[in-house]
Amino acid sequence: MALPVRRRSVAVKVGKVTVGGDAPIVVQSMTNTDTADVEATVRQVRDLARAGSEIVRVTVNSDEAAEAVPGIVERLAAAGVDVPLVGDFHFNGHKLLKAHPGCAELLAKYRINPGNVGRGSKRDPQFAEMIEFACRWDKPVRIGVNWGSLDQDLLTRMMDENSRSPEPRDALEVLREATVVSALDSAERAEALGLPHDRIVISAKVSGVQDLVAIYRVLAKRCDYPLHLGLTEAGMGSKGIVASSAALAILLQEGIGDTIRISLTPEPGGDRTREVLVAQELLQTMGLRAFTPMVIACPGCGRTTSTYFQELAQRIQGYLRERMPEWRRLHTGVEEMNVAVMGCVVNGPGESKHANIGISLPGTGERPVAPVYEDGEKTVTLKGDNIAGEFQELVERYVARHYARRDTP
Ligand code: SF4
Repeated sequence: MALPVRRRSVAVKVGKVTVGGDAPIVVQSMTNTDTADVEATVRQVRDLARAGSEIVRVTVNSDEAAEAVPGIVERLAAAGVDVPLVGDFHFNGHKLLKAHPGCAELLAKYRINPGNVGRGSKRDPQFAEMIEFACRWDKPVRIGVNWGSLDQDLLTRMMDENSRSPEPRDALEVLREATVVSALDSAERAEALGLPHDRIVISAKVSGVQDLVAIYRVLAKRCDYPLHLGLTEAGMGSKGIVASSAALAILLQEGIGDTIRISLTPEPGGDRTREVLVAQELLQTMGLRAFTPMVIACPGCGRTTSTYFQELAQRIQGYLRERMPEWRRLHTGVEEMNVAVMGCVVNGPGESKHANIGISLPGTGERPVAPVYEDGEKTVTLKGDNIAGEFQELVERYVARHYARRDTP
C-alpha cells in the first residue's frame, strides 16, 4: 500500500534538525527533571538523545533553570551529545530570556504557550517581548496551545459571539475552533512582530483523541506551518500508548504531522526514554520511518506454554536494539531489517519466510528443533540448549552479508 502523501509545510530549522518541508517526521521528547539540577538534566537529555530523541525540550520556569541551560549545553557537548534543546516557557519567559542571554542564545527553539504568556493587558506586550528575543537570537518558536491552558479571554469572546449568533454552534465546536484560532492568531501576530514565516511551528494539544484529530485537520487546512503532534495528558502505561497511537496514527495516515511527541506519564522510577521508543515504533510500524530492526513475533498460545518462546523473543529484541548503534555506524539500511521469532509450526515457517531472517520454534513439548529461514529459504535447523545464541550469530552474519558497509574513517 502506498504511503500517505505528506501535507506540504515550510521547513523550519531547529538547531541541526529540520522540522517540516521534505524532512522525515522528527521524534522529540521532554525531560522531567528540575532543569536547575544540571547533572540530572544532562543525564536525562543524554539518555533521551541516545534512545533516538532528535529534539529534547526542557522546562525553563525560573532564574535557576535559565541559569543552568548554558552548563547543560556545555556538558552535553563534552559528552558528544548535540541534540537541539528547546526551552519550555510559561508566564515569565519574557523575563527569563531578558535576564539570561546565555540561555536565550543556546536554546535551539522557544516554546510559547499563548494561553500562559500573561493575563489581561500584560499578555500582548509579554508575547511581543518573547518574539523580539526569538528575532534577536534568530530562533524558531513553537506556538504551543494546550487545551488545559487555553486563552480564556479569547474563549469567552468566541463563546459570547456564538451565543449571539442566530444559529449557535455546539460549545465543543467553539472550544475546538478557539484552540485553532489561538494558535493561528498568535502565529500571525508573531510574523507581524518580525518573526519570519519559516521560524514557526504550531501545536494545539488536547487530551481527547477525537478532539485532537478534528483540531489538527483544521490546522492542516488553514496553514503551512509545520505541525507538532502530540496528545497531551495521554496517561500512563498502555492507556497512554494506545490513546497517543490512535490519535497520531489517524493524522499521520492523512499526511498530517511533521514532528511527534508521545506524552507518557512514567511510572514512579520508570524510564523516560519509553516515550521515545513508542514514538519510533509508531512511525516504523506505519512504514513512515525506520529506526531499528523490527521483531515480528506471534503472541504465543496454548502451543507455547513454557516461557522459552517469550524469553527468546525478548532476548532477540534486546539484542537488536543493543547492536543497532554499531550496525548503523558500519552498514546502511539495517534499520529496515525484519526478524521473525515465531512460537510453532502453525504460522512460524510462513511468517519466517516473509521476514529477512526468521526462526520458528517447535511449540511446547516437542524436541527443541528450530528451523531458520533467510530471505524465504530454510538455511539451517538449530537444535539443543543454545538456540538463542546461535540465532543471534546468524543474525550478525546476515547483517554483515546483506547490508552495504559504510565508509568509516
Ligand atoms: S505461531 Fe504457533 S505458537 Fe504462535 S500463536 Fe500461532 S499457533 Fe500459537
